[in-house]
Amino acid sequence: MLTWNEPNNDLSPDKPSAAGDASGLGKIDRGAGRVSVDDKQMINARADVNQLLPLKYRWAWEKYLSACNNHWMPTEVSMQADIALWKSSDGLSEDERRMVKRNLGFFAASESLVANNIVLAVYRHLTNPECRQYLLRQAFEEAVHTHTFQYIVESLGLEEGELFNMYREVPSITEKAAWALDYTRHLDDPDFRTGTPEADQAFLRDLVAFYVVFEGMWFYTGFAQILSLGRRNKMVGIAEQYQYILRDESIHLNFGIDVINQIKHENPRLWTPDFQEEVRSMLRQGAELEAAYGHDTMPRGFLGLNSGLCEQYMHFIANRRAAQLGLSPVFPEVENPFPWMSEAMDLKKEKNFFETRVIEYQSGGALSWD
Ligand code: MN
Ligand code: FE
Repeated sequence: MLTWNEPNNDLSPDKPSAAGDASGLGKIDRGAGRVSVDDKQMINARADVNQLLPLKYRWAWEKYLSACNNHWMPTEVSMQADIALWKSSDGLSEDERRMVKRNLGFFAASESLVANNIVLAVYRHLTNPECRQYLLRQAFEEAVHTHTFQYIVESLGLEEGELFNMYREVPSITEKAAWALDYTRHLDDPDFRTGTPEADQAFLRDLVAFYVVFEGMWFYTGFAQILSLGRRNKMVGIAEQYQYILRDESIHLNFGIDVINQIKHENPRLWTPDFQEEVRSMLRQGAELEAAYGHDTMPRGFLGLNSGLCEQYMHFIANRRAAQLGLSPVFPEVENPFPWMSEAMDLKKEKNFFETRVIEYQSGGALSWD
């Protein structure tokens, strides 16, 4: 059993704690005092990043535990119905096929971009071991998600080059990837260091771009597209896999929101009115890029789904993300056009919906989805 408020058992209270070593790769400070909870911080911490305990951020540790309880592998989902539908000549309309392929193409590369951002940009600068513990778990989940797209390509016999190159060959997908990649690249610069207001804001920008816009907005329209087919009993294997991914991603999103809000709380001077405006404009840009992708993916629309509804959903979600960050809405208030999406996040309810085999890895721990 872990205790949350460890007494400070510092055996050498006269010695100062280690000077901040953000990476954890520095020379070992042999004479440093023991880690005190008060020295732990999200960024620019003085406390040794190589010591998980004593814990400071319960929310980060709990997300790590929840994520582990959600373990799944794509190969556990049967693709038989999807294969039959995909191969039959009248199973899906041309428009539905186009949407499915572009959706898969968007996700296939996006999972790698998100993984790169965690491993090459965020991890280095987040100076808290319980958050790093979660990032390691998240990195593994992104690998599982990439595996999912490999498994789908193999099962359906899709052209792998077409799918995995879409982020370079389909402009509306390229635009989204390029927008996000700029933020990773900035932090991956070997000379980049947090510790100035400008650099710390750059770090926050990356978190907003990836956790809030990429995983928290773009992925959600992606899930809605496939789950809308699943609701009509089409591509139910992929839909089930997307539900598992959605369950993972909703924790990624909430972790990102908590990280941003905690950094704000510890560094209020970063959250200036100008910076808040900038974050709001990032959410707006994210929604605009998604609208272009929606038109491109579903030029005509089909039963229950079209680009207009996806754009409306993006506005609804963008406002919701703004609220989670303590910001005012970025779009006029709109109704959620896909109210069933919140049900889709509850796998237990979905069991009778899709009538597929669902393995319940969840073994406890309440999850909040959004
Ligand atoms: Mn993912
Ligand atoms: Fe993710």
